[in-house]
Amino acid sequence: MIKNGRVIDPANKVDKKCDVLIIDGRIAEVGEKTQDPRLKTQDCKVIDATGKIVSPGLIDIHVHFREPGDEEEETIASGSAAAVAAGFTSVVCMPNTNPPIENETDVEYIHRKGRQARKTHVYTMGAITKNREGVELAEMGFMAEAGAVGFTDDGKGVQEPTVMLRALKYAAMFDKVVAQHCQDNSFAGDGVMNSGFYSTVLGLPGIDALAEEAMLWRDIQLVQKTNVRYHAQHISTAGSAELIRAAKKESLPITCEVTPHHLLLTEESCLEYDTNYKINPPLRTEDDIKALKEAIAEGLVDALVSDHAPHLQSEKELVFLRAPFGIASLECAVGLYVKALIEPGVLDWPGLIRLMTEKPAKIIGVDKGTLGVGKQGDVTIIDPDAKYKIDVNKFRSKSRNCPYDGWAVTGKVEKTIVGGEIRFSAD
Ligand SMILES: [Zn+2]
Ligand SMILES: [Zn+2]
Repeated sequence: MIKNGRVIDPANKVDKKCDVLIIDGRIAEVGEKTQDPRLKTQDCKVIDATGKIVSPGLIDIHVHFREPGDEEEETIASGSAAAVAAGFTSVVCMPNTNPPIENETDVEYIHRKGRQARKTHVYTMGAITKNREGVELAEMGFMAEAGAVGFTDDGKGVQEPTVMLRALKYAAMFDKVVAQHCQDNSFAGDGVMNSGFYSTVLGLPGIDALAEEAMLWRDIQLVQKTNVRYHAQHISTAGSAELIRAAKKESLPITCEVTPHHLLLTEESCLEYDTNYKINPPLRTEDDIKALKEAIAEGLVDALVSDHAPHLQSEKELVFLRAPFGIASLECAVGLYVKALIEPGVLDWPGLIRLMTEKPAKIIGVDKGTLGVGKQGDVTIIDPDAKYKIDVNKFRSKSRNCPYDGWAVTGKVEKTIVGGEIRFSAD
């Protein structure tokens, strides 16, 4: 029994002070005076949530847990521990592991490791193409059957329009979403940061905004022809926001996500050649941040993700040109989103929670993200007023490649409950 919290359940339009009762791993009641008869016969653990927000378990549909292949950077066990500490009761692993997740057995392997870790629910997307080479479709049907929640070649975009068209048609047969890391390589080349004034100053090859926008535009044409569900991953430019706006006006089945990095940091951060700011898509400009925030305020963005991308310090210590892309960001995601969106008034708490629960659950087609009676007892309790400093040395993640170390943020995860079990507690 979670008592006296501010219960925010956007899917059921709930935002009020009340109790949440979980029995046998499922939501039994949400109300002011819970009177379930089973309370009289069973031992009931009571959690006092006075002053706290009680939310459906948070869902992050874009993480990299590096297993199999790079277990020194992250494992499904360490990533899952990080996830619950960050309030996430469900995560979706990206398939760009080594080897990639591209058949039924690979999907089952991720699920099994997730169950063994016994922290967060672990889902995975499968690769769109074999070995993520963009040529031949992977075993999408078998992966769908094994429970893959969608497909992506994340880390790369599918370059050939005909391959992408086939992938969309094929995925539609299983009603699975195709997600794209929009990046046209002919524009991106071997770029390592945003193309513009700062890349010129630093003498580094740039990635033009067009790399993202050209592929997103092309994909929107394919969706127009097929009317198949499509998800644009980590959009980062004003032009992409505009393309999404136009596509949604036409009611195309298109969704998109953003990361905190593209809302809080600009290309200017790369001035010190600090590789913790090297991500893909690259950090852009103030104008892009403004456009993304406007898109979020308008309801054009469907999911807030971390794109948690852990890397070894030895790799991130390479020169900017050679270091891998990515930021370890799972464990600071909530605080960062409060800073990026709630503090400047872009979203209120119900708006933020909706983009971290109900909407992402819909994209991946799982029956989660609400506190409806009978749903799985996944709950996140957040102290919205707690102020603290991000400390990478406290991360459960194996990696520390995070530019937010020392940032002062507000909004802290207190408890994470998965299937009725307390899997993380801050005290
Ligand atoms: Zn990506
Ligand atoms: Zn990614």
